[in-house]
Amino acid sequence: MRAIQISSAGGPDVLTPVELPDPQAGPGELLVEVAAAGINYIDTYQREGIYPMPLPYVPGLEGAGRVRAVGEGVAGFAVGDRVAWAENLGSYAELVAIAADKAVAVPDAVSDDVAVGALLQGMTAHFLVTDCHPVQAGENLLVHAAAGGVGLLLTQLAAARGGRVIATVSTAEKEELARGAGAAEVIRYTEVDDLAAAVRELTGGDGVHVAYDSVGATTFDASLASLRRRGMLVLFGASSGPVPPVDPQRLNAAGSVFLTRPKLFDYNATRDELTARAAAVYSAVADGTLDVRIGHRYPLAEARTAHEDLQARRTTGKLLLIP
Ligand code: NDP
Repeated sequence: MRAIQISSAGGPDVLTPVELPDPQAGPGELLVEVAAAGINYIDTYQREGIYPMPLPYVPGLEGAGRVRAVGEGVAGFAVGDRVAWAENLGSYAELVAIAADKAVAVPDAVSDDVAVGALLQGMTAHFLVTDCHPVQAGENLLVHAAAGGVGLLLTQLAAARGGRVIATVSTAEKEELARGAGAAEVIRYTEVDDLAAAVRELTGGDGVHVAYDSVGATTFDASLASLRRRGMLVLFGASSGPVPPVDPQRLNAAGSVFLTRPKLFDYNATRDELTARAAAVYSAVADGTLDVRIGHRYPLAEARTAHEDLQARRTTGKLLLIP
């Protein structure tokens, strides 16, 4: 099969197209023909070695496709079923063997592209607004990188719950997308000197109930300074680099605020949580609450270009690799 392989940690140039033996469905596994693989920011952290990986490996945690073979001991899936997954390395490939207990069924009404576009990033947006901090109508929320893959979905789900989203983006095109997703206010954070002051002005001086920050190094201080008293900073990514160590006293000084650094896989810790969250996201797609924007489809062999575009902030919405 054709796949992308990484043999040493590094920049996008380590994403190498290769021919590999076809994987087999081992016990508890499904062998799937990949229709679309999802690109996620975590793929860049793994590629760079920020999250150390066993080498060599085929990257990509996410995809959708059709079951070609069912391994021993698997119940609930059959050859020909359409499935999606968000937690299985090896997805940048024509074929992947996935753990059956990490697979979810894709409803007929949901296309392969949307099945991928809604899954990892949609479930992330979902746990952020329902579990991490259950958004209430009328709350002020700060959402950074609102035109990104997670950002567009997070903005839509937060707005659907009645939250007033103050979005940050870097360009006019991204501003338009964030507004289309339901942002009440948009700040071009690359153009303001004092981001927290701009957020405070938009909240009558109060600050936001929650800041959803996936950008990290360059936004953390402003996110903290944007919170209202007893607000919450949800730091869920590091697109601009990791945040240096934080003195807990800063949470006191900022108004007895809360800081959490969550990851999806702790909120999808059981099979029941995974299937319930995937079903919630796919039903939000089906009922029109969630519009999944596919920003770009790259041929599998162009994984390198896709990672370059993502890290250069040239992309919006979901990026897919098509084998
Ligand atoms: P995005 O599509 O959001 O791409 C990243 C965006 O971040 C860019 O488009 C850019 O938007 C913004 N950005 C700001 N500064 C930088 C910078 N210096 N370099 C690169 N980008 C920058 O990616 P994803 O939707 O895949 O992921 C978003 C974030 O969410 C990531 O940090 C990821 O790790 C995190 N995440 C966390 C999960 C969790 O469970 N904790 C699960 C899924 C994702 P702009 O141009 O508008 O500034």
